[in-house]
Amino acid sequence: MAALYGDWEAVIGLEVHAQLLTRTKLFCACEPRFGDPPNTHTCPVCLGLPGALPVLNDGAVRLAVRAALALGCTIQPRSVFARKNYFYPDLPKGYQISQYELPFALAGELAIEVDGERQRPRILRIHMEEDAGKNVHHASYSVVDLNRAGTPLIEIVGEPDLRSGAQAAEYLRRLREVLMAVGVNDGNLEQGSFRCDANVSVRKPGGPLGVRAELKNINSFRFVEEAIDVEAKRQIALYESGGHMVQQTRGYNSEKKETYLLREKEGDTGYRYFPDPDLPALHLSAELVQEIARSLPELPDARRARYVSELGLTPYAAGVLTGHPKISELFERTLEIVGRAPEAQRVEVVKIANFIQAEVLAGVRTDGLEATLPIGPQQLAELLELVRAGTISGKQAKEVFAKTAGTDRSPKEVVGSEGLAVMSDPGELERLAKELVASSPKQATQYRAGKTNLLGFFVGQIMKATKGSADPALVNDVLKRVLAEGG
Ligand SMILES: [Zn+2]
Repeated sequence: MAALYGDWEAVIGLEVHAQLLTRTKLFCACEPRFGDPPNTHTCPVCLGLPGALPVLNDGAVRLAVRAALALGCTIQPRSVFARKNYFYPDLPKGYQISQYELPFALAGELAIEVDGERQRPRILRIHMEEDAGKNVHHASYSVVDLNRAGTPLIEIVGEPDLRSGAQAAEYLRRLREVLMAVGVNDGNLEQGSFRCDANVSVRKPGGPLGVRAELKNINSFRFVEEAIDVEAKRQIALYESGGHMVQQTRGYNSEKKETYLLREKEGDTGYRYFPDPDLPALHLSAELVQEIARSLPELPDARRARYVSELGLTPYAAGVLTGHPKISELFERTLEIVGRAPEAQRVEVVKIANFIQAEVLAGVRTDGLEATLPIGPQQLAELLELVRAGTISGKQAKEVFAKTAGTDRSPKEVVGSEGLAVMSDPGELERLAKELVASSPKQATQYRAGKTNLLGFFVGQIMKATKGSADPALVNDVLKRVLAEGG
């Protein structure tokens, strides 16, 4: 990273707020849905009316524990909800219920890899809290929507272990991926259900840490990366010109590629935290924690490693196939179906992986944890079996895929009704091969002189002549024979 910031070093810690996928809010039974008319999901509890009492949502606690276990945290047997006091129009109670001194989870980590270098940035703590409402600003007035007020969040506080915008962006991608894989969060940055604040400061390596700036409300990983690099460079320039930093909160203008001052910030003391007297301490038993730990699925990092070591895929392919839970589900369910065939007649794993990457992915539409896939595992297995058995060619498979995409048609039925079939008439192929060899004397001579990789040229020409329908293995055999004979 030395090149990036000259002889300075950036020190970055991320705070991520992730909305838990519960039906109801953290302390009441309101069921908010994104995009519903303003203030249609409120009640005395989330409006903060006098006398209303919060009741902790058991489902939210389970999801929070699930996330923390997936991130390698230690679950605390006792944690305490605290009031974080501040005044803002979107916070009707005048305080937010959060956890402060005693959060429910401590000391986790996350594996990241940037430029081939693997690291394990640490997670300091995770706590549960309720979200605030939303201020909506118009030209001459502002209004408040409290649908979101009281929605359950976890805040994942990272240690300042990151050293560049690229590392920070990678950390966020991996974090989002883990939360989605365990079904805790939908990873939706646009709707704000996964959002990040970045604390950025700079120092000379080994020297004292500078004052930090907090970058707020950046809703894409690319902009997080840009904003951190821009901010680190701004601080370096400031110090080098003899200026000094005050602790502050800044935003990022992605068009001008600069950060700007939102407000100068006071520390935590301004919030006058104290334990919420309306809520008892949260006790998490070892039995509950073990039960949740047992229910965790294989995590994306482990899954990628398995795809490489057991299935023989490239790290790149493993990364693509674990990019969304629904993609890896399609891949694994296809594997399962294919695995029922006798071993000698099984579609190769790499063929499934390649077809998903080359053809299927382009037609995938994801929406948070949901995804619309153009093909199901049964169809995919059947299609690739048709290729393996030599009924259709790889090129024809693309055609069949295009005709079945988004429908429940069976590839077999499409092949039948379209009259598709592999061209595997040895006599006809031999005639084509002889014609081709005769019309390409230069290549034929070179091939016979030992330039055997020219076989690919001949195969390509035959495939072209048969519009991709010829059986490639047979074409290879016939060509080799014809070329040898003609010598
Ligand atoms: Zn409510």
